[in-house]
Amino acid sequence: MFENLSDKLQNTLKKLRGKGKLTEKDIDVAMKEVKMSLLEADVNYKVVKTFINNVKERSLGHEVMESLTPGQQVVKIVHDELMKIMGEAESKLKFNPNDITYFMMCGLQGAGKTTATGKLAKKLKKDGKRPLLVACDIYRPAAIKQLEVVGASVDVPVFAMGDKVSPVTIAKEAMKHALKHGNDVVIIDTAGRLHIDDDLMNELVQIKEEVKPDEILLLLDAMTGQDAVKVAETFNKYLEITGVILTKIDGDARGGAALSIRNVVDKPIKFVSVGEKMDQIEPFYPDRMASRILG
Ligand code: GDP
Repeated sequence: MFENLSDKLQNTLKKLRGKGKLTEKDIDVAMKEVKMSLLEADVNYKVVKTFINNVKERSLGHEVMESLTPGQQVVKIVHDELMKIMGEAESKLKFNPNDITYFMMCGLQGAGKTTATGKLAKKLKKDGKRPLLVACDIYRPAAIKQLEVVGASVDVPVFAMGDKVSPVTIAKEAMKHALKHGNDVVIIDTAGRLHIDDDLMNELVQIKEEVKPDEILLLLDAMTGQDAVKVAETFNKYLEITGVILTKIDGDARGGAALSIRNVVDKPIKFVSVGEKMDQIEPFYPDRMASRILG
């Protein structure tokens, strides 16, 4: 991810670094290039605008302009502001300290929900938890089976009731099941659709009301760029999500979604999924991402 953006930003900033004193014009020229590079990386235009304004304002301050290494200072500012648009600090999962923790996984079909559900279960198990997966996607014929296969591959039980019972009932029964079987984290895999529709949203809202999840995690395919950002806005409007898992960043050369989501929906990216294997999930660290972009 970020390969093109990284190359372009590094080029622009190298030119600044090479200069002794900087003029306002130097900053202007550099910021025009940075702006183009961000837009080419498919970063949301409002995010780009805010970013450029912030970098410019700080760069023209006298600490930078009068410093002995102004180019260096601008690079630091760009790093800080990149980090800021991605949310600054790592955002950890929230657990219920007194009771069973519930995570609800949602997102469009193909975003990587079921895969990420398995990955999260594997991670939790490694941390000493006793997760339970719940199959609430009763519409896609192979979805229940797929979750069962994923569950078996990470040695985590799956609660399913077939496809003739409503997802809200399945969720309710899963809560009883977890209590009875000593599971401390329940991850609900919900249905996706190819596009957002009211029926899907209403069903997810009902599950949310029934379960009152500690986390509502939205799975977004990074390769869909600004479409992913739009999906995030809609899911957030209906469900008030608590965080995002950005998937398929291994196939996303641009990085526009990663750089836009936090700023547009004001919800943190909690994890990134970097491949199909069950251990290919990582916490999202804005500072490391910013350093990766700037090399
Ligand atoms: P769901 O419909 O949202 O449950 O999506 P799935 O979990 O079934 O994933 C859809 C496809 O994307 C599957 O072929 C997965 O193997 C693949 N996939 C999921 N996450 C990743 C990822 O991070 N990287 C890559 N390259 N493929 C992924």
